[in-house]
Amino acid sequence: MNGKRIYIPPMAYGSARAFASALRAIGLDAEPTPPSDSRTRELGARFTSGDECYPAKVTVGDFMKVLERPETDPEQVAFFMPTAQGPCRFGQYAPYLRQVLDANGYDTVEILSPTSQNAYAGLGSLAGPFVRTGWRALLCADLLEKLLLMNRPYDERRGDTETVYEESLADLCRTLEETPVEPGVQLRALGASMVRSRGRFRKLRDRRGARASLPLIGVVGEIFCRLNTFSNENLVRSLEGYGAEAWLSDLVEWIWYTNSEHFRKLKLEGRIWSAEALGAWVRKRVQKHDEHVLIEPFAEDFAGREEPDIYEILECARPYLPREGAFGEMVLNVGKVVYLARKGAAGIIDISPFTCMNGIVCEAIYPRVSRDLGGIPIRNFYFDGTQSDLDRDLGVYMELARSYRGGGTSA
Ligand code: SF4
Repeated sequence: MNGKRIYIPPMAYGSARAFASALRAIGLDAEPTPPSDSRTRELGARFTSGDECYPAKVTVGDFMKVLERPETDPEQVAFFMPTAQGPCRFGQYAPYLRQVLDANGYDTVEILSPTSQNAYAGLGSLAGPFVRTGWRALLCADLLEKLLLMNRPYDERRGDTETVYEESLADLCRTLEETPVEPGVQLRALGASMVRSRGRFRKLRDRRGARASLPLIGVVGEIFCRLNTFSNENLVRSLEGYGAEAWLSDLVEWIWYTNSEHFRKLKLEGRIWSAEALGAWVRKRVQKHDEHVLIEPFAEDFAGREEPDIYEILECARPYLPREGAFGEMVLNVGKVVYLARKGAAGIIDISPFTCMNGIVCEAIYPRVSRDLGGIPIRNFYFDGTQSDLDRDLGVYMELARSYRGGGTSA
């Protein structure tokens, strides 16, 4: 990256900050793109044709906003753009961004798109620390987000939980940046940071005392749109305003899924005993171990809210979308709906970009899933930056969820 500053798109606010800290921890210069705003939409619309998925527009808009700042030297800029294989348009985001940059005279701006498929291109000897530190940062950011959503709807004073969340996120970022990347040392330091955060959230909970639990609404959908509060008009916050608690599908779910797909493909190609398979197996073992160490302190806090193993989600989806015949987020979303319903959700919301093929497939399947689950209300919300009736629609939806939870029939 030759001293360039890497900008991280804020798929999820906390994850982007923690990930930027992870990159700084391994010696790279990184920061999240500045907060999205109306200029993001303006530039996104100007530099895309209108056919792209909404997350592509938002990220292009945010990146172009960085480039239009007078103090930005394009020679010193790199954009981090995750990518994926498969039929979805997501795989085209990075090549598309390259085209946009080249066509507008920004050919010196680099795109960092490291994956296991391209051997973490662009990172050289930093690939190992990048994978491990990045993984841990995303895991911890997900844990903090989970604590935020489990506590915020019960705030006595608006803003209490967010203050604690911000303190905890700052603690995580500081820990990442100030701890040597030696794996054992780093894991112990991150574990201690998580325990400190647990203490802050527990103190908050003890201060406000016992409260009746609110209806639990599972939130699934396209990964960027469901996690990026700008894209989804902060739907979860509005939902909380209607007296609900949200259980949002986290970011690392996708990483577990891509790992499991990697194994499935190696098996299909008869390469399960290859060096590549061995490497993937070792990586998975290491990631599982990290996850175990970091989640373990929250066993009591997350009782009843445990995140499922990826294979459990895939099995839940099997009657509707068997993983051998369907691919990507549609499988995860359908499986997660079933899982969340079993965990007591009063309803499910699917957040997707307008025209998202995953959202459209899921919407076609949800009526059957809902019937099989006793009529649980499942509602798709699509976003393209022009949402107008979100608040009213959420109010109506929460009435359905309350009636389902109370044993009435719905949706
Ligand atoms: S998941 Fe949906 S929004 Fe994302 S790239 Fe695919 S079609 Fe587009």
